[in-house]
Amino acid sequence: MNNKITGHTRLAALFATPIRHSVSPMIHNTAFQTLGIDAVYLAFEVGTDRLKQAIDSIKNLDMIGANLSMPNKILAVEYMDELSEAARLIGAVNTITNDQGKLTGHNTDGTGFMRSLQDIEVDLIGKKMTIIGAGGAATAIIVQAALDGVKEITVYNRKDDFYDKIKEKLAYISENTNCTINLHDLSDEAALAEDVAESALLLNATGVGMKPLEGQTPIQDFSIIRPDLAVCDVIYTPRETEFLKQARLRGAKTNNGLGMLLYQGAAAFEKWTGQEMPIEIVKPIIE
Ligand code: NAD
Repeated sequence: MNNKITGHTRLAALFATPIRHSVSPMIHNTAFQTLGIDAVYLAFEVGTDRLKQAIDSIKNLDMIGANLSMPNKILAVEYMDELSEAARLIGAVNTITNDQGKLTGHNTDGTGFMRSLQDIEVDLIGKKMTIIGAGGAATAIIVQAALDGVKEITVYNRKDDFYDKIKEKLAYISENTNCTINLHDLSDEAALAEDVAESALLLNATGVGMKPLEGQTPIQDFSIIRPDLAVCDVIYTPRETEFLKQARLRGAKTNNGLGMLLYQGAAAFEKWTGQEMPIEIVKPIIE
């Protein structure tokens, strides 16, 4: 990196743990450098025990803002002066902006996913989608899809703790948007087949398909996949999960989670700087 750090250089940061594997510093520093923005982005190993102090430092050090990842996204809601509509409905923050000491919590994970659909020329507005999973990634996508105008979302989750917790939340999201949202047990294969038949998109928003569950798939019956269905995965390691491979072999348009990762960062960058991230330069770094 040949950034010239001066007395004017401002700081953006990522607060998470574990953190050392993150590609976000590469993404943002490349974008700052490309556009000649006098700022740096650093990753700090911060868990929930020190999150309050870390967030206070955004004000105290007049930082540009911060990103949050596991395990900080939910707790951070309590420390914000304001929340975006998406962050409020999701109940989690992944991006903080600092407007002269006023901290606003945003959530760009869902916008990242929705923008990634443009890369495979899929338009979901006014249509129905089916999502497998009801954790953090799924909730962010459900909220943004509902805010953007997806007409109906069916959510399939196994009967674990997530299933019980998400019920009320989905009702709340549905009440606050124009989107019909229903929750089903993932083991109900007949219902899943019916919903997928009516959907423009099927999404895996679970960790099934990445380590330690690499090679496994969240559904077993791939005869429900048809060529005019888009099939996406939030996972990007491996680049093609078994789920995406099986869908591709049945002729579906597929997309992995790299676009979501890239565009959630781009949305944060645009909030901090008012400038568009130079996607064509940043994208090759993470591919
Ligand atoms: P989470 O722990 O909040 O949720 C996990 C979800 O997976 C729950 O719905 C759970 O019921 C389900 N699940 C877990 N094991 C399962 C199994 N064996 N069978 C069926 N369902 C199972 O996790 P999260 O933060 O939502 O992350 C989920 C995935 O999304 C991870 O793979 C993560 O790496 C990925 N992710 C990607 C991006 C991106 O930018 N592409 C962003 C966030 C998360």
